[in-house]
Amino acid sequence: VLALVLSLVCFPPGCRGLSQLAELPDTHQLLRQTCRDFADRELNPIAAKLDKEHVYPAKQIQELGAMGVMAIEVPEELGGAGMDYLAYSLAMEEISRGCASTGVVVSVNNSLYIGPVLKFGSEEQKREWITPFTTGEKVGCFALSEPGNGSDAGAASTTARQDGDEWVLNGTKAWITNSWDASATVVFATTDKSLKHKGISAFLVPMPHPGLSLGKKEDKLGIKASSTANIILEDCRVPLGNMLGPRGAGFKIAMQTLDSGRIGIAAQALGIAQASLDCAADYAHKRTAFGSPIGKLQAIQFKLADMAVAVESARLLTWKASLLRDAKKPFTKEAAMAKLAASEAATYCSHQAIQVLGGMGYVADMPAERHYRDARITEIYEGTSEIQRLVIAGQLLKEYQS
Ligand SMILES: Cc1cc2nc3c(=O)[nH]c(=O)nc-3n(C[C@H](O)[C@H](O)[C@H](O)COP(=O)(O)OP(=O)(O)OC[C@H]3O[C@@H](n4cnc5c(N)ncnc54)[C@H](O)[C@@H]3O)c2cc1C
Repeated sequence: VLALVLSLVCFPPGCRGLSQLAELPDTHQLLRQTCRDFADRELNPIAAKLDKEHVYPAKQIQELGAMGVMAIEVPEELGGAGMDYLAYSLAMEEISRGCASTGVVVSVNNSLYIGPVLKFGSEEQKREWITPFTTGEKVGCFALSEPGNGSDAGAASTTARQDGDEWVLNGTKAWITNSWDASATVVFATTDKSLKHKGISAFLVPMPHPGLSLGKKEDKLGIKASSTANIILEDCRVPLGNMLGPRGAGFKIAMQTLDSGRIGIAAQALGIAQASLDCAADYAHKRTAFGSPIGKLQAIQFKLADMAVAVESARLLTWKASLLRDAKKPFTKEAAMAKLAASEAATYCSHQAIQVLGGMGYVADMPAERHYRDARITEIYEGTSEIQRLVIAGQLLKEYQS
């Protein structure tokens, strides 16, 4: 009934609604199954090793490129899969269920790097900066945060100064996912600090490039197979034509990019939550205590039930946000809701999975402890949970006003 009501409220006639999602279209079913098989065959068996050794999954990313997963929304003529955001969410969930680090590499390339070029780039920029990034041989990154500001992205202090026919960039971008493995980045820098967030513009910078250097790889709690580092810009010169979108539109580009990106992170979190539930339910069948499987204990059953509810609710929110975006309807609030719910589901389910596994949950022989570490970042990047609540409340109050 809920699905039917939601589909009638949210989607115009002719648009596929949530009620029909129990039966995904064949194309989406196929992509989901292909990604699930890939995760089981290629990612699950090596995820612990990649995590332990902090190794970028280069081969797997290229295979995902060959499957079309590194550029799902990019039109086929530019080298992409020409699919929609629902497809992207499905793929992201399955890949992250196998390996959350691989998930974030896929997510950043699709939504944070390619996303803004696809939406705001000229035709020439799309050919130059998207097509080579569709195969998995090259990945991109997104440089918005700085050491002095993360949530307050409008306070960017990195500068862009025009000098003849070039932009000269100076400043430090912090926490940049994929930075050590990337071949290009979208950089946000201010051309006029007095205009505050309206002075920010977006720039396309190849990597490596003179004047651009990388900081040390951050030693993180989780998603250890993806690289995170500062990008340092010291008189880094790019042609005037490397500005993405109009001058001063950078903050808008960043915020719109993050609206979409949050759906990808929601799906990543969903994959981690589902993997935690899979691991706990399987163990509950196999582990015996007091003469019978622990799955027969109501205390364990309640944990599994609460985990399943958290996963399923987050999945519906993630699909709803994707469908709204695909239907070209406003989705800012729903994307924030999906990210908030799915990241909290990932943290909750991975915490509970450790409890179900007891001592075995606490050691690296089982994946539960990795899920617990990987889950935590989904509540921080692309807007913390506090920022998601601000976005949701802001949109909600606007709706009540109008
Ligand atoms: C592993 C990793 C990968 C990342 N990848 C990228 C990337 O690829 N590109 C990129 O640009 N950035 C990236 N980031 C940066 C990430 O987006 C920021 O860390 C995040 O937005 C939070 O910013 P901050 O760390 O500066 O925290 P702060 O903004 O300093 O926040 C600190 C605390 O204060 C709270 N807070 C802040 N403002 C408010 C408010 N107005 N109301 C209520 N609470 C508030 C926050 O929720 C948080 O709890 C990454 C970070 C990590 C850790």
